[in-house]
Amino acid sequence: MQKKMVLPGDVLSTEEEFEPGKNAFVEEGNVYSAAVGQPEVNEKQKSIDVKPEKPLRLLSEGGIVFAVVVLVKENSVNVSIMQNPEKGNSPVINQRHAMLPIRNVSRQYVESLRDNFRIGDLIKAKIARAGPLGIDLTTAEPGLGVIKAFCTRCRHPLHLFGRTLKCLGCGHTERRKVSKDYLLK
Ligand SMILES: [Zn+2]
Repeated sequence: MQKKMVLPGDVLSTEEEFEPGKNAFVEEGNVYSAAVGQPEVNEKQKSIDVKPEKPLRLLSEGGIVFAVVVLVKENSVNVSIMQNPEKGNSPVINQRHAMLPIRNVSRQYVESLRDNFRIGDLIKAKIARAGPLGIDLTTAEPGLGVIKAFCTRCRHPLHLFGRTLKCLGCGHTERRKVSKDYLLK
């Protein structure tokens, strides 16, 4: 059995090979994951599902987490936490839902969340509040924000040139709340 982790926006197969099952969707002939988890092929139905990862324990306020953007709303971003770096070099193991409210994005005024985050972006964030009602994150520090983003046109990873993110696949340029630790420069 292959233990492979996929993120929202990752290509799972072509539409000719498999139909999208649970937590998957089709766009322009490809089947994409809509969740953080492991792909599972259903041979009978010729479909591919993504089985979501189990929740993670022991998250405390002030801790740094990595998370994937799953939904961008008007006043908040929903993310799935993927890893607890305080546990050392363990690979990407878990996920848990958390929220980034618009007031926590930056010290500067943020007009639109969609100018700062898109579905599938990988972010580095700090836990601002962890309680029974959920986890609030913050990215209002230079080291926090998006560390890997994908082209909204063709889904190639974006590279950072100065303060602009550029797609080497189609040439499109985009904006994000970029961390100083952005991965592709
Ligand atoms: Zn592109």
